[in-house]
Amino acid sequence: MRPVRILATGGTIAMAPTPHGFAPRPGYLEELLAQDPRFQHPELPPFTLHEYTPLMDSATMRPEHWQTLAQDIAAAHEDGAGVVVLHGTDTMAYTASALAFLLENLHHPVVLTGSQLPMGELRSDAPDNLLAALLLAAQPHLPEVVLVFGHRILRGCRATKVDASGFMAFDSPNYPDLGTLGVRLTLFADRLRPMPQAPLRVHSLNPHTQVGVVRLFPGISAAFLANVLRSPLQGLILETYGMGNGPSDDTALLGTLERASRRGVVVVNCTQCLRGGVDQEGYATGSALARAGVVSGGDMTVEAALTKLLFLLSTEPNADAVRARMEEDLRGERTPAHPSPTHGTVEPAHL
Ligand code: ASP
Repeated sequence: MRPVRILATGGTIAMAPTPHGFAPRPGYLEELLAQDPRFQHPELPPFTLHEYTPLMDSATMRPEHWQTLAQDIAAAHEDGAGVVVLHGTDTMAYTASALAFLLENLHHPVVLTGSQLPMGELRSDAPDNLLAALLLAAQPHLPEVVLVFGHRILRGCRATKVDASGFMAFDSPNYPDLGTLGVRLTLFADRLRPMPQAPLRVHSLNPHTQVGVVRLFPGISAAFLANVLRSPLQGLILETYGMGNGPSDDTALLGTLERASRRGVVVVNCTQCLRGGVDQEGYATGSALARAGVVSGGDMTVEAALTKLLFLLSTEPNADAVRARMEEDLRGERTPAHPSPTHGTVEPAHL
Protein backbone atom coordinates (compact mmCIF):
# COMPACT_ATOMS: atom_id res chain seq x y z
CA MET A 1 0.00 0.00 0.00
CA ARG A 2 1.19 3.54 -0.78
CA PRO A 3 2.61 5.18 2.36
CA VAL A 4 0.95 8.36 3.58
CA ARG A 5 2.48 11.47 5.10
CA ILE A 6 0.20 13.43 7.40
CA LEU A 7 0.98 17.15 7.48
CA ALA A 8 -0.81 18.69 10.48
CA THR A 9 -1.28 22.46 10.21
CA GLY A 10 -3.64 22.74 13.20
CA GLY A 11 -7.37 23.41 13.40
CA THR A 12 -9.90 21.93 15.81
CA ILE A 13 -8.75 18.38 15.03
CA ALA A 14 -5.40 19.09 16.80
CA MET A 15 -6.89 21.01 19.73
CA ALA A 16 -7.22 20.05 23.40
CA PRO A 17 -9.44 21.48 26.13
CA THR A 18 -7.91 24.32 28.18
CA PRO A 19 -9.48 26.55 30.89
CA HIS A 20 -10.07 29.12 28.10
CA GLY A 21 -11.67 26.74 25.59
CA PHE A 22 -10.13 24.52 22.90
CA ALA A 23 -6.60 25.44 21.78
CA PRO A 24 -3.97 23.62 19.67
CA ARG A 25 -1.64 21.46 21.78
CA PRO A 26 1.57 20.21 20.12
CA GLY A 27 2.07 16.44 20.30
CA TYR A 28 -1.49 15.80 21.48
CA LEU A 29 -2.71 14.34 18.19
CA GLU A 30 0.22 11.93 17.98
CA GLU A 31 -0.49 10.77 21.56
CA LEU A 32 -4.16 10.15 20.77
CA LEU A 33 -3.42 8.26 17.54
CA ALA A 34 -0.89 6.03 19.35
CA GLN A 35 -3.56 5.09 21.93
CA ASP A 36 -6.39 4.44 19.44
CA PRO A 37 -6.42 0.84 18.06
CA ARG A 38 -8.25 1.99 14.91
CA PHE A 39 -5.11 3.82 13.82
CA GLN A 40 -2.99 0.66 14.23
CA HIS A 41 -5.34 -1.39 12.00
CA PRO A 42 -3.49 -3.50 9.39
CA GLU A 43 -5.80 -2.30 6.61
CA LEU A 44 -4.60 1.27 7.04
CA PRO A 45 -1.62 2.41 4.96
CA PRO A 46 1.61 3.00 6.87
CA PHE A 47 1.71 6.67 7.85
CA THR A 48 3.96 9.26 9.48
CA LEU A 49 2.83 12.49 11.14
CA HIS A 50 4.55 15.84 10.80
CA GLU A 51 3.23 18.70 12.91
CA TYR A 52 3.97 22.30 11.94
CA THR A 53 5.09 24.78 14.59
CA PRO A 54 3.08 26.59 15.65
CA LEU A 55 -0.16 24.71 15.05
CA MET A 56 -2.58 27.25 13.62
CA ASP A 57 -6.22 28.14 13.65
CA SER A 58 -6.89 28.17 9.91
CA ALA A 59 -8.38 31.67 10.20
CA THR A 60 -4.77 32.89 10.56
CA MET A 61 -3.43 31.13 7.46
CA ARG A 62 -1.95 33.13 4.59
CA PRO A 63 -0.70 32.39 1.03
CA GLU A 64 2.85 31.79 2.32
CA HIS A 65 1.51 28.83 4.31
CA TRP A 66 0.01 27.38 1.10
CA GLN A 67 3.44 27.71 -0.50
CA THR A 68 5.14 25.84 2.36
CA LEU A 69 2.51 23.11 2.18
CA ALA A 70 2.96 22.81 -1.61
CA GLN A 71 6.70 22.35 -1.16
CA ASP A 72 6.30 19.74 1.61
CA ILE A 73 3.68 17.88 -0.43
CA ALA A 74 6.05 17.84 -3.41
CA ALA A 75 8.77 16.29 -1.22
CA ALA A 76 6.36 13.53 -0.11
CA HIS A 77 5.25 13.10 -3.74
CA GLU A 78 8.85 12.52 -4.78
CA ASP A 79 9.03 9.71 -2.21
CA GLY A 80 5.90 8.15 -3.74
CA ALA A 81 3.71 9.00 -0.75
CA GLY A 82 0.12 10.22 -0.66
CA VAL A 83 -0.51 13.18 1.63
CA VAL A 84 -3.16 14.02 4.22
CA VAL A 85 -3.29 17.68 5.23
CA LEU A 86 -4.93 18.23 8.61
CA HIS A 87 -6.42 21.69 8.56
CA GLY A 88 -8.95 23.90 10.29
CA THR A 89 -12.29 23.97 8.53
CA ASP A 90 -12.57 27.76 8.29
CA THR A 91 -10.21 28.25 5.37
CA MET A 92 -9.81 24.63 4.25
CA ALA A 93 -11.56 25.28 0.92
CA TYR A 94 -9.14 28.14 0.14
CA THR A 95 -6.11 25.96 0.90
CA ALA A 96 -7.54 23.06 -1.13
CA SER A 97 -8.06 25.35 -4.13
CA ALA A 98 -4.66 27.02 -3.78
CA LEU A 99 -2.90 23.63 -3.63
CA ALA A 100 -4.75 22.46 -6.74
CA PHE A 101 -3.31 25.40 -8.70
CA LEU A 102 0.17 25.32 -7.15
CA LEU A 103 0.62 21.58 -7.75
CA GLU A 104 0.32 20.91 -11.49
CA ASN A 105 0.44 17.27 -12.67
CA LEU A 106 -0.15 15.56 -9.34
CA HIS A 107 0.24 11.79 -9.58
CA HIS A 108 -0.75 10.91 -6.01
CA PRO A 109 -3.68 12.02 -3.84
CA VAL A 110 -3.53 15.07 -1.59
CA VAL A 111 -6.41 14.81 0.90
CA LEU A 112 -7.45 17.67 3.17
CA THR A 113 -9.50 17.00 6.26
CA GLY A 114 -10.15 18.27 9.78
CA SER A 115 -13.02 18.12 12.21
CA GLN A 116 -15.69 20.11 13.98
CA LEU A 117 -14.80 18.57 17.39
CA PRO A 118 -11.24 17.83 18.59
CA MET A 119 -9.92 14.29 18.21
CA GLY A 120 -10.04 13.67 21.98
CA GLU A 121 -13.73 14.58 22.45
CA LEU A 122 -16.30 11.81 22.98
CA ARG A 123 -18.48 12.56 19.93
CA SER A 124 -15.66 13.80 17.71
CA ASP A 125 -15.98 13.50 13.95
CA ALA A 126 -12.15 13.50 13.72
CA PRO A 127 -11.48 9.72 13.76
CA ASP A 128 -13.89 9.00 10.89
CA ASN A 129 -12.59 11.91 8.83
CA LEU A 130 -8.95 10.98 9.35
CA LEU A 131 -9.48 7.24 8.72
CA ALA A 132 -11.24 8.03 5.43
CA ALA A 133 -8.53 10.53 4.47
CA LEU A 134 -5.76 7.97 5.12
CA LEU A 135 -7.47 5.32 3.00
CA LEU A 136 -8.02 7.79 0.16
CA ALA A 137 -4.47 9.16 0.29
CA ALA A 138 -3.21 5.62 -0.38
CA GLN A 139 -5.34 5.19 -3.54
CA PRO A 140 -3.43 4.53 -6.76
CA HIS A 141 -5.70 6.42 -9.20
CA LEU A 142 -6.61 9.67 -7.48
CA PRO A 143 -4.23 12.28 -8.92
CA GLU A 144 -5.78 15.40 -7.41
CA VAL A 145 -6.46 17.54 -4.35
CA VAL A 146 -9.47 16.18 -2.50
CA LEU A 147 -11.41 17.39 0.55
CA VAL A 148 -12.87 14.65 2.73
CA PHE A 149 -15.33 15.59 5.44
CA GLY A 150 -18.57 14.29 6.93
CA HIS A 151 -18.52 11.11 4.83
CA ARG A 152 -18.18 13.04 1.59
CA ILE A 153 -15.35 13.01 -0.96
CA LEU A 154 -15.19 16.33 -2.79
CA ARG A 155 -12.88 17.85 -5.38
CA GLY A 156 -10.80 20.36 -3.40
CA CYS A 157 -11.20 23.27 -5.82
CA ARG A 158 -15.00 22.76 -5.95
CA ALA A 159 -15.58 22.63 -2.20
CA THR A 160 -16.92 25.36 0.06
CA LYS A 161 -17.73 25.48 3.78
CA VAL A 162 -21.50 25.64 4.21
CA ASP A 163 -22.07 24.84 7.89
CA ALA A 164 -20.35 26.52 10.84
CA SER A 165 -21.03 23.69 13.29
CA GLY A 166 -22.60 20.67 11.53
CA PHE A 167 -20.60 17.53 10.83
CA MET A 168 -21.44 17.82 7.10
CA ALA A 169 -19.60 21.13 6.92
CA PHE A 170 -18.68 21.16 3.21
CA ASP A 171 -20.50 21.01 -0.08
CA SER A 172 -19.50 20.93 -3.73
CA PRO A 173 -22.46 22.73 -5.30
CA ASN A 174 -21.35 22.56 -8.94
CA TYR A 175 -19.51 19.24 -9.20
CA PRO A 176 -20.68 15.83 -8.01
CA ASP A 177 -18.96 13.96 -5.17
CA LEU A 178 -15.90 12.03 -6.38
CA GLY A 179 -17.05 8.93 -4.55
CA THR A 180 -19.01 7.59 -1.62
CA LEU A 181 -18.00 6.80 1.95
CA GLY A 182 -20.73 4.43 3.03
CA VAL A 183 -20.37 0.76 3.87
CA ARG A 184 -17.99 0.79 0.93
CA LEU A 185 -15.44 3.36 -0.11
CA THR A 186 -16.14 3.94 -3.79
CA LEU A 187 -14.52 6.31 -6.28
CA PHE A 188 -16.25 7.19 -9.57
CA ALA A 189 -13.46 6.89 -12.15
CA ASP A 190 -15.24 9.12 -14.70
CA ARG A 191 -15.34 12.04 -12.22
CA LEU A 192 -11.64 12.01 -11.36
CA ARG A 193 -8.80 13.97 -12.95
CA PRO A 194 -6.83 11.94 -15.53
CA MET A 195 -3.37 10.66 -14.57
CA PRO A 196 -0.88 13.18 -16.02
CA GLN A 197 2.02 12.15 -18.25
CA ALA A 198 4.27 15.05 -17.26
CA PRO A 199 6.12 15.23 -13.94
CA LEU A 200 4.82 17.25 -10.99
CA ARG A 201 5.40 20.98 -11.27
CA VAL A 202 5.27 23.20 -8.19
CA HIS A 203 4.37 26.82 -8.93
CA SER A 204 5.27 29.83 -6.82
CA LEU A 205 3.03 32.66 -5.70
CA ASN A 206 4.39 36.18 -5.97
CA PRO A 207 4.10 37.48 -2.37
CA HIS A 208 3.45 41.03 -3.65
CA THR A 209 0.34 40.15 -5.67
CA GLN A 210 -2.75 42.02 -4.44
CA VAL A 211 -6.24 40.62 -4.96
CA GLY A 212 -9.59 41.23 -3.30
CA VAL A 213 -13.26 40.27 -3.16
CA VAL A 214 -16.26 42.62 -3.23
CA ARG A 215 -19.85 41.51 -2.88
CA LEU A 216 -22.36 43.65 -4.77
CA PHE A 217 -25.29 44.93 -2.72
CA PRO A 218 -28.19 47.18 -3.66
CA GLY A 219 -26.91 50.75 -3.42
CA ILE A 220 -23.17 49.98 -3.75
CA SER A 221 -21.48 53.22 -4.84
CA ALA A 222 -18.99 53.87 -7.63
CA ALA A 223 -16.82 55.74 -5.10
CA PHE A 224 -16.61 52.70 -2.81
CA LEU A 225 -15.69 50.43 -5.72
CA ALA A 226 -13.17 52.96 -7.06
CA ASN A 227 -11.43 52.96 -3.67
CA VAL A 228 -11.14 49.19 -3.69
CA LEU A 229 -9.88 49.13 -7.28
CA ARG A 230 -7.06 51.59 -6.60
CA SER A 231 -3.42 50.55 -7.10
CA PRO A 232 -1.81 48.27 -5.93
CA LEU A 233 -4.87 46.03 -6.49
CA GLN A 234 -4.26 43.75 -9.50
CA GLY A 235 -7.31 41.48 -9.41
CA LEU A 236 -10.82 41.56 -8.00
CA ILE A 237 -13.51 38.92 -7.60
CA LEU A 238 -16.84 40.71 -7.98
CA GLU A 239 -19.63 38.70 -6.37
CA THR A 240 -22.69 39.55 -8.44
CA TYR A 241 -26.37 38.65 -8.38
CA GLY A 242 -27.82 35.46 -9.88
CA MET A 243 -26.36 34.59 -13.27
CA GLY A 244 -23.77 37.35 -13.01
CA ASN A 245 -25.86 40.52 -12.94
CA GLY A 246 -25.11 44.00 -11.61
CA PRO A 247 -26.66 47.50 -11.71
CA SER A 248 -26.43 48.09 -15.48
CA ASP A 249 -28.06 51.55 -15.19
CA ASP A 250 -25.26 52.85 -12.94
CA THR A 251 -22.94 54.40 -15.52
CA ALA A 252 -20.57 55.72 -12.83
CA LEU A 253 -20.08 52.23 -11.43
CA LEU A 254 -19.64 50.67 -14.88
CA GLY A 255 -17.21 53.44 -15.82
CA THR A 256 -15.17 52.70 -12.69
CA LEU A 257 -14.94 49.03 -13.66
CA GLU A 258 -14.06 49.86 -17.24
CA ARG A 259 -11.27 52.26 -16.27
CA ALA A 260 -9.84 49.71 -13.82
CA SER A 261 -9.90 46.99 -16.49
CA ARG A 262 -8.15 49.30 -18.95
CA ARG A 263 -5.49 49.98 -16.30
CA GLY A 264 -4.87 46.22 -16.17
CA VAL A 265 -6.92 45.20 -13.12
CA VAL A 266 -8.46 41.78 -13.78
CA VAL A 267 -12.09 41.77 -12.59
CA VAL A 268 -13.79 38.37 -12.39
CA ASN A 269 -17.55 37.88 -12.15
CA CYS A 270 -18.65 35.18 -9.66
CA THR A 271 -22.21 34.65 -8.52
CA GLN A 272 -23.38 35.17 -4.94
CA CYS A 273 -25.59 32.09 -5.39
CA LEU A 274 -24.33 28.86 -3.90
CA ARG A 275 -25.28 26.78 -6.94
CA GLY A 276 -25.08 27.49 -10.68
CA GLY A 277 -22.81 29.98 -12.38
CA VAL A 278 -22.35 33.17 -14.32
CA ASP A 279 -23.58 33.65 -17.87
CA GLN A 280 -22.71 37.23 -18.81
CA GLU A 281 -24.73 36.95 -22.02
CA GLY A 282 -27.91 35.89 -20.20
CA TYR A 283 -29.21 39.33 -19.17
CA ALA A 284 -28.46 42.92 -20.21
CA THR A 285 -27.36 43.51 -16.60
CA GLY A 286 -24.63 40.90 -17.05
CA SER A 287 -23.51 41.87 -20.55
CA ALA A 288 -23.00 45.46 -19.31
CA LEU A 289 -20.35 44.08 -16.95
CA ALA A 290 -18.76 42.13 -19.82
CA ARG A 291 -18.56 45.34 -21.88
CA ALA A 292 -16.82 46.98 -18.91
CA GLY A 293 -14.06 44.34 -19.22
CA VAL A 294 -15.27 41.97 -16.50
CA VAL A 295 -14.50 38.29 -17.26
CA SER A 296 -16.79 35.42 -16.34
CA GLY A 297 -15.92 33.21 -13.38
CA GLY A 298 -18.41 30.59 -14.67
CA ASP A 299 -19.43 28.24 -11.89
CA MET A 300 -16.25 28.55 -9.81
CA THR A 301 -16.50 28.95 -6.07
CA VAL A 302 -15.16 32.26 -4.77
CA GLU A 303 -12.39 30.28 -3.04
CA ALA A 304 -11.32 28.73 -6.35
CA ALA A 305 -11.63 32.00 -8.28
CA LEU A 306 -9.61 33.97 -5.73
CA THR A 307 -6.75 31.48 -5.45
CA LYS A 308 -6.70 30.98 -9.25
CA LEU A 309 -6.45 34.75 -9.73
CA LEU A 310 -3.56 34.94 -7.25
CA PHE A 311 -1.87 32.01 -9.02
CA LEU A 312 -2.32 33.43 -12.54
CA LEU A 313 -1.25 36.95 -11.55
CA SER A 314 1.92 35.33 -10.18
CA THR A 315 2.64 33.18 -13.22
CA GLU A 316 1.19 34.79 -16.39
CA PRO A 317 2.99 37.60 -18.25
CA ASN A 318 0.16 40.16 -18.47
CA ALA A 319 -3.47 40.96 -17.59
CA ASP A 320 -4.89 39.69 -20.91
CA ALA A 321 -3.20 36.32 -20.44
CA VAL A 322 -4.64 36.15 -16.89
CA ARG A 323 -8.14 37.00 -18.21
CA ALA A 324 -7.94 34.29 -20.88
CA ARG A 325 -6.74 31.63 -18.41
CA MET A 326 -9.36 32.61 -15.81
CA GLU A 327 -12.02 31.53 -18.35
CA GLU A 328 -10.32 28.17 -18.98
CA ASP A 329 -10.67 25.06 -16.86
CA LEU A 330 -7.20 24.35 -15.43
CA ARG A 331 -7.73 21.79 -12.64
CA GLY A 332 -11.40 20.84 -12.87
CA GLU A 333 -12.38 24.01 -10.99
CA ARG A 334 -14.98 25.18 -13.54
CA THR A 335 -17.37 23.60 -15.99
CA PRO A 336 -16.30 24.41 -19.57
CA ALA A 337 -18.61 26.96 -21.21
CA HIS A 338 -21.71 25.66 -22.98
CA PRO A 339 -24.81 27.44 -24.31
CA SER A 340 -27.17 28.38 -21.50
CA PRO A 341 -30.37 26.28 -21.61
CA THR A 342 -32.59 29.31 -20.98
CA HIS A 343 -30.82 31.82 -23.19
CA GLY A 344 -29.15 29.73 -25.87
CA THR A 345 -30.36 28.95 -29.34
CA VAL A 346 -31.94 25.58 -28.48
CA GLU A 347 -35.08 25.05 -30.58
CA PRO A 348 -38.25 24.49 -28.53
CA ALA A 349 -39.43 20.90 -28.65
CA HIS A 350 -42.56 20.32 -30.76
CA LEU A 351 -45.39 18.77 -28.80
N1 ASP B 1 -11.35 27.91 13.68
C1 ASP B 1 -11.02 26.53 13.39
C2 ASP B 1 -10.05 26.53 12.24
O1 ASP B 1 -10.43 26.75 11.13
C3 ASP B 1 -12.24 25.78 13.08
C4 ASP B 1 -12.05 24.34 12.73
O2 ASP B 1 -10.97 23.80 12.71
O3 ASP B 1 -13.04 23.69 12.44
O4 ASP B 1 -8.89 26.30 12.45
